[in-house]
Amino acid sequence: MIDCQNVQTPLRRVAIVGSGLAGLVAARELLALGLEATLFEKSRGPGGRMAAKRLPDPASGSADIGAQYFTIRNPAFRQFLEQYAGEASWGEWQGRFRYQNDQGIWQDMRPAQRYVGVPRMSAITRAISQGLDLRAGVRVASLQRDERELWQLTDTDGGVHGDYDAVVLTPPPAQTVDLLTDSGLSDVADDLNIRISRMQACWTVVVHFPRGAGADVEGLMPRSALLSWAANNSSKPGRTDEGEWWVLHGDPDWSDANTELDPRQVRDQLLEEFLRCTGATGQPDDFLVHRWLYAKPRARTAPGHLWFGDRNIALAGDWLDGGRVEGAFNSANGLIRRLESDGLISAELTAR
Ligand SMILES: Cc1cc2nc3c(=O)[nH]c(=O)nc-3n(C[C@H](O)[C@H](O)[C@H](O)COP(=O)(O)OP(=O)(O)OC[C@H]3O[C@@H](n4cnc5c(N)ncnc54)[C@H](O)[C@@H]3O)c2cc1C
Repeated sequence: MIDCQNVQTPLRRVAIVGSGLAGLVAARELLALGLEATLFEKSRGPGGRMAAKRLPDPASGSADIGAQYFTIRNPAFRQFLEQYAGEASWGEWQGRFRYQNDQGIWQDMRPAQRYVGVPRMSAITRAISQGLDLRAGVRVASLQRDERELWQLTDTDGGVHGDYDAVVLTPPPAQTVDLLTDSGLSDVADDLNIRISRMQACWTVVVHFPRGAGADVEGLMPRSALLSWAANNSSKPGRTDEGEWWVLHGDPDWSDANTELDPRQVRDQLLEEFLRCTGATGQPDDFLVHRWLYAKPRARTAPGHLWFGDRNIALAGDWLDGGRVEGAFNSANGLIRRLESDGLISAELTAR
């Protein structure tokens, strides 16, 4: 963790870049402590990698193309979801989950409570974002600190947004490094280049089987160089699809090596591998392909969050805390607890 022992004045207005779960958690918690928080999001809405994509068949809803499910180990995460996502936007996904061991034998995955958004993964982040100051469709291009030591954010259309005491950056590491470098903060970016784990790509294919795939599980992890995960999205709670929509995720190394492959080839290769691995016999009739350039970090250990106290810049996100949905929560939650304990959030604000 980087620490600069400057005498700090309490923060009042904070800009947060990115409205995936980490950004939303930071905004909610800052607001609860009496601060002003503004979220800037380059996409049309919040959610980031807790994403769902509308399906080509208008009779169907959407499929979860990013995070597939999450677990809850930290009681503070459950409390946060209950408080800000409400009860209706998430639920438990029950079913049969299997993986193929080194000998190629299928085994049940460890029993666990697996949670999903209802009726789609992005319902959770949508619910959490209600009432927040969220500027969607704004891609932050650079940050400048003026002579008053307040941060000004410039977006890619030339718009300037200020005056912020601190900035929390939550994009994946490559995008964070670009933003820091374009802001003349290459010393911070260089430091990250050494510390951070690289994110890996993930090709995603969503495929419809009108009469079912013929696989007797809801989710599976085959032993394959191509396919890392397949799930019957239609088996998640609150989905009302006709037939079955399956989500297939490419192996991270294979996806990394094939980022420029024609999406039709990706579709054919992952589908063939799915049928080969599972022995499923269903006939597909509709598809959707999505490429994630930054899906999950390679390494599992990271510092949780980073706080550059000499500039009032914080970095948070799943990649700093294990690379999963709960890691995104833990990272942002840990950052805000740290700002509190460092005296950067005044008791006067909290009492208001
Ligand atoms: C294919 C795939 C499968 C996954 N499966 C699972 C799983 O099964 N279980 C699990 O727990 N996790 C899974 N994950 C990981 C999980 O989705 C992430 O851990 C979590 O959603 C990350 O949240 P975050 O807020 O840290 O980052 P993100 O969700 O990436 O949020 C960052 C946000 O920043 C925005 N942004 C970036 N640059 C800018 C800019 N310049 N200006 C404004 N906005 C910007 C982005 O648009 C994005 O909304 C999966 C991810 C992928 C991609």
